[in-house]
Amino acid sequence: MLKDAYTADVTPERDGEEVRLAGWVHEVRDLGGIKFVLLRDRTGIVQLTLPRQKVPKETFEKVPKLTKESVIRVEGIVQANKKAPRGVEIIPRRIEVLSKSNTHLPLDPTGKVDADLDTRLDARVLDLRREEPQAIFKIRNVVTSAIREFLEELGFIEVHTPKIIASATEGGTELFPVVYFERDAYLAQSPQLYKQMLMAAGFERVYEIGPIFRAEEHNTRRHLNEAISVDIEMSFIESEEDVMRVLEKLLAHIFRKVREECERELKVLNQELPELEVPFERITYEEALNLLSDHGIEVEWGEDLPTEAERKLGEIFEEPFFITEWPKEIRPFYTMAKDDEVTTAFDLMYKGLELASGAQREHRYDMLVRQIEEQGLNPADFKYYLESFKYGMPPHGGWGLGLERTLMTITDAENIREVTLFPRDRKRLHP
Ligand code: ATP
Ligand code: MG
Repeated sequence: MLKDAYTADVTPERDGEEVRLAGWVHEVRDLGGIKFVLLRDRTGIVQLTLPRQKVPKETFEKVPKLTKESVIRVEGIVQANKKAPRGVEIIPRRIEVLSKSNTHLPLDPTGKVDADLDTRLDARVLDLRREEPQAIFKIRNVVTSAIREFLEELGFIEVHTPKIIASATEGGTELFPVVYFERDAYLAQSPQLYKQMLMAAGFERVYEIGPIFRAEEHNTRRHLNEAISVDIEMSFIESEEDVMRVLEKLLAHIFRKVREECERELKVLNQELPELEVPFERITYEEALNLLSDHGIEVEWGEDLPTEAERKLGEIFEEPFFITEWPKEIRPFYTMAKDDEVTTAFDLMYKGLELASGAQREHRYDMLVRQIEEQGLNPADFKYYLESFKYGMPPHGGWGLGLERTLMTITDAENIREVTLFPRDRKRLHP
């Protein structure tokens, strides 16, 4: 390895020790007889101090030629110094330039110069060098690890279902067509039908963390055309309550893990995460409409909640909560109905965002075919899916949780693109 420590490992207690560090030139300060370089790596920043008398001439003379954001390697001695940032500095013996950066930077990674989101996303690689995105993606990793840990503890196994599919999951809108040899194919909007088929296959508990593709036409702060969905499906449930309980406990677990493991990152983002108390509150769709009406927002029964209604509910409820018993007409055909009007479907809401949707599924073949027809779809288009309901399908249910939406609530990001490495939206296919 070209280095044996990160900048964060350099502490005053290591005074006198020799270290080899490598990273990016964050800043250069040349005061003539003494020169400073701030060296940045993924753990933070350390100061290199070069007094003319104390470092080799060749090393000293290299500093004025260092360009910002060049990649360098440093060998030197740790020196405790109360006046240095973090009380410690490096007196370099040797500085080697591994990769010189162009002097014209499309974006200032030190974050001192403000840039709008579009400029930042265009120069995303430089943008990601900043402390805040680094913190966000560290948290994102802790979140996915926490999800795997939690679900596997409950006996779920991770699966990967196809992302190139022959027919729409829930009707034809929002689908991206794909050129697939001599046939029509699409990018999967969700793993829904496949995870249900795995219930017929006897897996009982599966989860998938994978991409979903939606041809959302409009740019909003909470929609991407390619997002990551955390999906579960679970057999032998008594009602949707069984899967709601998994979901609320998972979210509480995620928050706990991030609090425990990302103290530094939360500080960088200026965030304090609350302890989420389970069970979350549950209100029915009808109760939600009444509540909204009390606050001056009228939503007609049978309509999806408009953005402003979601936002208003986010003001009323400080904690995450469920909206249950959604009307039949705005839920997909595979949802189990409760009666002629409402279903077992639920949404998990938090901070004015829909984080997840789920339900108990219809596992009875005849009912399922009827519901497909009622929604104006053709059962023949679902031949292989329907086939799996004929030979013993347990009662089951599940949900899909948006990974980016979850991260928005944790990091308080205003825009979903902030928590996505290289976001895809209507206007953005690069980088
Ligand atoms: P919305 O009403 O907010 O557009 P949806 O009801 O169409 O979402 P679902 O089909 O219920 O979405 O998908 C499950 C979850 O996946 C959503 O609750 C959300 O967290 C996430 N999700 C869905 N579509 C997107 C998207 N285009 N971008 C980011 N996340 C999404
Ligand atoms: Mg939904």
